[in-house]
Amino acid sequence: MRFDIIIAGAGPVGCIIAQKCAAILKWKVLILDKRDHIAGNCKDEYKHGVLVHTYGPHYFRTSNDDLLEYLSQFTEWIPGKYFVKSKVGKKLYPFPINLDTLELFFKKNFDSDSAQKFLDTKKVRNANPQNSEEFVLSKVGTELYKSFYLGYTLKQWGMHPKDLSPSVCGRIPIRFNRDSRYVDSTHQLMPKDGYTEMYKKMIAHENITLMLEVDYFEARQKHESKYATVYTGPIDTYFDYSLGKLPWRSLEFEFREYKQEYKQECVQINYPNETPYTRSVEAKHITGQKSDNTVICNETPVDNGDAYYPIPHKSSQDLYLDYEELAKEETLNKHVYFAGRLATYKYINMDQAMESAFEMFDRIKSTHFDK
Ligand code: UDP
Repeated sequence: MRFDIIIAGAGPVGCIIAQKCAAILKWKVLILDKRDHIAGNCKDEYKHGVLVHTYGPHYFRTSNDDLLEYLSQFTEWIPGKYFVKSKVGKKLYPFPINLDTLELFFKKNFDSDSAQKFLDTKKVRNANPQNSEEFVLSKVGTELYKSFYLGYTLKQWGMHPKDLSPSVCGRIPIRFNRDSRYVDSTHQLMPKDGYTEMYKKMIAHENITLMLEVDYFEARQKHESKYATVYTGPIDTYFDYSLGKLPWRSLEFEFREYKQEYKQECVQINYPNETPYTRSVEAKHITGQKSDNTVICNETPVDNGDAYYPIPHKSSQDLYLDYEELAKEETLNKHVYFAGRLATYKYINMDQAMESAFEMFDRIKSTHFDK
């Protein structure tokens, strides 16, 4: 069959581009996914009657009003109560580190000024940190680094923070106030009926054909696209690993039901130190669902499995840049566009991935439609 555009991957990026091509350009769109569901890793589903995040917690946040307005066509919202604690020793500490964390940890009272002065005595001075260890040490010093960051990062990446870009631990704010939200963004919201429902509505358009459990590399033998293809899978897979395999970090999820209303006090508890898993997630805290039972998901990072995280390390970034050259040729010669976290090997958040879908749509429109 012939479509105007073929989109490989029905995650956030694929769904947004599909919706815009169908609704704005009136193109016939084929969107396919090798998995048996849409929404990519944002998928949510009911387990034991409880709405859970299948592939780990997804906290929607953005400071982009246009993005929020766009998504609001497909969902209503509930407040995003993204509160996380970190278990160090026997205690649960508010995380990211804020004044309450510092008071509990150092057993002192602080205000913003005294906390900063106190940490000035702990910091390992470094105006230009080159890696995540140097970055955290330069902000909070050794004790907090060792308690909250080192073990978590070793587990999460199977790598030492010394070997990871400063941006990895730099994702987490450090606050000198009592704000205990996990992230800093103007809008922190959850889609009222979940992510999967939101994406279902997004791609429910007469111009969109959805095919699930279909491999793109087989599908492209059968289906042609008139104008363009968007590929959102791992970039090394697209090129058949011709330059070597890119390293990816994967995750294993263990879901367990409990016959009680809530099992933990907030949506996410981080375990930097003892356990093999990094965090336990009780999605009920953010979905707003009321039920007598609950489900906890423990998340363990692993080397093998589906690609979840690109590795923010120089050697993998260099290999990606070589793949990016191949990708540019492919775009030029075959009108195949590479978009999203896996195809651009970038550790981006959901809202950044969505913004990249907007940009990709504009690019495709100006190249193939406006001419
Ligand atoms: N991190 C940490 N301790 C924590 C939480 C995060 O050291 O309790 C570090 C770790 O290296 C992690 C990074 O900060 O990979 C980013 O954390 P985030 O929660 O943003 O990761 P994601 O939700 O994307 O897995």
